[in-house]
Amino acid sequence: MSDCIFCKIAAGEIPAKKCYEDDLVVAFHDIHPLRPTHVLVIPVRHISSLAHVSAEDEPVLGRMLAVAQKLAAENGSDDGFRCIINTGRIGGQEVPHLHLHILGGPEPVGPMVAKT
Ligand code: AMP
Ligand code: ZN
Repeated sequence: MSDCIFCKIAAGEIPAKKCYEDDLVVAFHDIHPLRPTHVLVIPVRHISSLAHVSAEDEPVLGRMLAVAQKLAAENGSDDGFRCIINTGRIGGQEVPHLHLHILGGPEPVGPMVAKT
C-alpha cells in the first residue's frame, strides 16, 4: 500500500532501526519504546491486521513468531518477553499494517492489561 508507513519501512523508503529482514518479515525497533526491549515484527507484504489474514498467510504468521523468539534473546530478553498484536479499534491498533510487538527486560514487563 503506497501510503502505509510500515510498507515504506519494509521497502527501505523511510528510515527505521531495522534489526532483522528476510523474504517474509522485517523487524525494527519501535520509535517510542515502552520497555528496554521493544521491537516490531511486520510482514513484508501489506496485511492490514490480524483480522485480515487467511490460510495463505500461515507461513508469514509462523515466521513472525519464530523471529520474535530470536530477536527477544538477542535484545536482552532471553529470560522471557511478551508478544502483543493489537488488532482493530477494540484492540487499540494505531498503524493499519499487521505488527507484532516484542516487549522485554531486564525487568518484568508488568500487568497484561492496565488495571484502570
Ligand atoms: P499499535 O498501537 O499496535 O498500532 O502500535 C504502533 C506502534 O508503531 C507504536 O508503538 C508506535 O510507537 C510505532 N511506530 C509508529 N511509527 C513508527 C516508525 N516510523 N518507526 C518505528 N515505530 C513506529
Ligand atoms: Zn503496509
